Amino acid sequence: SRKLKSDDTIVTTANGGVIGGDEKIFVFGPCSVESYEQVEQVAENLVEKGQKFIRGGAFKPRTSPYDFQGLGVEGLKILKEINKKYDLAVISEVVDPHHFEMADPYIDIYQIGARNMHNFELLKEAGRSNKPVLLKRGLSATIEELIYAAEYIHASGNSNIIICERGIRTYEKATRNTLDISAVPILKQGTHLPVLVDVTHSTGRKDIMLPVAKAALAVGADGVMAEVHPDPSVALSDAGQQMDLNEFDLFYKEIEQARKLY
Ligand code: PEP
Ligand code: MN
Repeated sequence: SRKLKSDDTIVTTANGGVIGGDEKIFVFGPCSVESYEQVEQVAENLVEKGQKFIRGGAFKPRTSPYDFQGLGVEGLKILKEINKKYDLAVISEVVDPHHFEMADPYIDIYQIGARNMHNFELLKEAGRSNKPVLLKRGLSATIEELIYAAEYIHASGNSNIIICERGIRTYEKATRNTLDISAVPILKQGTHLPVLVDVTHSTGRKDIMLPVAKAALAVGADGVMAEVHPDPSVALSDAGQQMDLNEFDLFYKEIEQARKLY
């Protein structure tokens, strides 16, 4: 829980990435790792923009068992190659307690996805790991439950935690999930952890991602996450909501301007 501003958790990565410091950051990358070439196209673009992080799922917790489940360890190896060549810190999801040890050589920040926020054995194992953990809010989790999930990681020994608001399930159908924008200042007041807002999985709508991302920065988020794919039309997951590189350029220009305001 929060005591003094000076207690704020600042997560750093080996390439000089800082989350929760004075500067707001961005986490961009494809929904799923599909091939080396696919991730590389995004990585090159991110490096041109001076970015420090890249995301991409190798283990995909899909709603349907018939959908693409991710490349698994092959995907992690691709991410590691990208990390070595482009010096981008890699954020990727783990879904099994055994994944922490297995993924350790490949990943810089472990992601725990919305569907696993209540997986307490996974949280405890994340607590025993020696890398930062990006914890996403569960689909129907209250803010209090989200904080308890973070406490599970902390109580098991790892205080390098980043919280990610990614929208919750409500009756509203205009967006994929309902972004709980007030969660951001509440989490900033109630915890000492960096808070990111995922504008892709919350809105599910490229047409409103930019204003929503600006709102996230305005209410105090430490950064924004969004999905980018070189050719979303052939993406193996979330084809409808990933930005292509042209859309990303426009989005980035604006959000980078907004970033400097806050
Ligand atoms: C993701 O970020 O890849 C993802 C699956 O998001 P969420 O867990 O928030 O649905
Ligand atoms: Mn996705």
